[in-house]
Amino acid sequence: DNPHLTPQRQPEDIDAALRPKSLDEFIGQEAARSNLRVFIEAAKSRSEALDHTLFFGPPGLGKTTLAQIIARELGVGFRATSGPVIAKSGDLAALLTNLEEGDVLFIDEIHRLNPVVEEVLYPAMEDRALDLIIGEGPSARSVRIDLPQFTLIGATTRQGLLTTPLRDRFGIPVRLNFYSVEELEKVVHRAAKLLDLGIAPDGATEVARRARGTPRIAGRLLRRVRDFANVAGTATVDQKTADASLTRLEVDSIGLDAMDRRYLHMIADIYKGGPVGVETLAAGLSEPRDTIEEVIEPYLIQLGLVARTARGRALNDRGWQHLGLKPPPGKEV
Ligand code: ADP
Repeated sequence: DNPHLTPQRQPEDIDAALRPKSLDEFIGQEAARSNLRVFIEAAKSRSEALDHTLFFGPPGLGKTTLAQIIARELGVGFRATSGPVIAKSGDLAALLTNLEEGDVLFIDEIHRLNPVVEEVLYPAMEDRALDLIIGEGPSARSVRIDLPQFTLIGATTRQGLLTTPLRDRFGIPVRLNFYSVEELEKVVHRAAKLLDLGIAPDGATEVARRARGTPRIAGRLLRRVRDFANVAGTATVDQKTADASLTRLEVDSIGLDAMDRRYLHMIADIYKGGPVGVETLAAGLSEPRDTIEEVIEPYLIQLGLVARTARGRALNDRGWQHLGLKPPPGKEV
């Protein structure tokens, strides 16, 4: 697989340079932005911490970016960690007791918190307090430590991955959706400017159309297009340059990458269009089930190429069409 095309974060955070710094600079997600603007304003006017906020949606849509923006707009400190990194309740207690009044604590992949750690989070979120057990055996006792006011911002791919008690403790749940081509054109123009790359409107449209509805992918693709343009000595990226580069990267006309096509072909060629269970697909593709459900499928479902049915995944007419294949007799959808 081409690592530049996967929407997950890379170890070196090349995304940082492209992050918008304010709600005004942030492109798209209108509903989320206008609501957040109100909640931030209200919290500030009452000199209170913002309510705990949960962002959910596929990777690369701007959850981390929005969390940072919220902290900046509130004028408070920003601390970031992620669910799998907090191994013990003591680690979380250390994080919480080090917060300053009003701070934002961002926990990425919050659905992957260890259940014991999650228990510590409940009173912290609800009563801004930490219940610690001191000592062991019959002499053990519990002490309660007050915490400063703070805002927990959690990020996850799907709201349903959270346990109910955790989900219920977020006052502001915010769903992020895939971006339209028009929005991604703006993302591309903005990123090109920051990368000091000349790009024609039709070049930006081409990158936007093939970015899988995802700003992070738009940024990645743009960097690769820039490489091709630099080596070819092209000063301004137009549609032709963009198309040639993206085709070489195996990104097809609607933005699907090699992994997407392997997924579609497996359903079409091996399972005659389905339905086939996700576990079977995961085994066949040697990919974790999570990756299939959180990264690959949401966009293919949004495009209407695949359907999630009670009996498994099935290719739709559009899926067959995109592969240039005809459904076998009796499988027309
Ligand atoms: P997530 O946390 O949802 O995986 P990030 O917040 O890390 O996504 O965003 C990934 C990349 O996409 C970053 O480089 C960010 O700058 C860019 N990005 C995300 N949303 C937007 C947006 N609305 N406008 C411009 N760039 C964006």
